[in-house]
Amino acid sequence: MSENKDILVYCEAAGGKLTSMATELLGAGSRLAPASGGELSAVLIGSDVSGPAQEAIAYGARKVYVVEDPYLKDYATEPYLVVLEKVIRQAAPEIILLGQTAAGRDLAPWLAFHLNTGATMDCTALEIDPARKRLLMTRPVYGGNAQAVQVCETDPQIATVRNKAVAPLAKDSARQGQVIKVMAGIDPAAIKTRVIERKVEAAAGVKLEEARVVVSGGRGIGSAAGFKQLEEIAAILKGAVGATRPPCDKKWIADTQQIGLTGKVVSPDLYIAVGLSGASQHLSGFSSAKTIVAINKDPEANIFKVAHYGIVADWKAILPAFTAKLKEVAG
Ligand SMILES: Cc1cc2nc3c(=O)[nH]c(=O)nc-3n(C[C@H](O)[C@H](O)[C@H](O)COP(=O)(O)OP(=O)(O)OC[C@H]3O[C@@H](n4cnc5c(N)ncnc54)[C@H](O)[C@@H]3O)c2cc1C
Repeated sequence: MSENKDILVYCEAAGGKLTSMATELLGAGSRLAPASGGELSAVLIGSDVSGPAQEAIAYGARKVYVVEDPYLKDYATEPYLVVLEKVIRQAAPEIILLGQTAAGRDLAPWLAFHLNTGATMDCTALEIDPARKRLLMTRPVYGGNAQAVQVCETDPQIATVRNKAVAPLAKDSARQGQVIKVMAGIDPAAIKTRVIERKVEAAAGVKLEEARVVVSGGRGIGSAAGFKQLEEIAAILKGAVGATRPPCDKKWIADTQQIGLTGKVVSPDLYIAVGLSGASQHLSGFSSAKTIVAINKDPEANIFKVAHYGIVADWKAILPAFTAKLKEVAG
């Protein structure tokens, strides 16, 4: 077991600011640090991350490792893995937290392999076992039907955390911390992959992962035109539209909106599931939603086992009146 009790958070930044996921991870780390007996550190990697470094301090980091290099402008597995591993070996933390984001899902298993330890993915709660001082990592299993609490017996203990699972601390610009610059030292010749082109996802409205309300459609929606009706409801509720896999495969909606095992994980306050059966691969993508409302014409549909409110009906008969009422209430 490690002598060092520090917690290191891998922070992602976009547009010169920390992502909301990064602020949540810093919140998680700040609450764990007193119980673990260590300090909270953060690491930022990119071509211009000095601004987010100060923000990380304001959100609770006592030390921020900054690795800046033009070569690190865009995320790519190999260079990011090389520099992150370098920082970890320098900082020697006992616990490493990453977001359950595209980069976090990519880096955590690689890190675990390189550091000869384990990675626990998609955690929804973290605490320190008071007796053994090990990290207790709670994660949904069996498509969200059960919660497993896992312990990693080797150091460093690595966890990825689901978005919206933990609240950030209030930002306080008076917090003091140390910024430690680390040379990237990347040998471009050793990197076997390169980014040829980046296509930025055109995100109109609220981002799916951050939405407080998700209106999700399944195969039962039947067409791209059907999804337009879900978009209308999402717009009124200031939410985002999600989908099961079949509508994405059929191109009724973009692949980026798929929720589930091989799609995105969301944690909204309200999840409205329309014309979808509730397959375990889909349920695993929103098992931490606070309130689930299901509309399905089959009373035996599995979605009704997890829904808090259910309507057994053809959605085409329900949504027009529902939309009209929402518009009326929204003024
Ligand atoms: C390895 C693997 C990974 C997968 N990953 C994912 C994933 O990430 N996300 C995902 O979603 N799926 C995933 N799947 C697919 C998953 O197993 C299911 O096939 C899929 O979720 C089913 O989608 P659905 O509920 O829309 O369709 P169906 O199961 O066909 O359900 C359609 C539902 O619509 C209802 N319906 C039909 N018409 C109406 C109407 N007019 N009004 C009201 N209700 C109506 C029906 O009663 C039915 O319950 C994965 C599968 C595998 C094998």
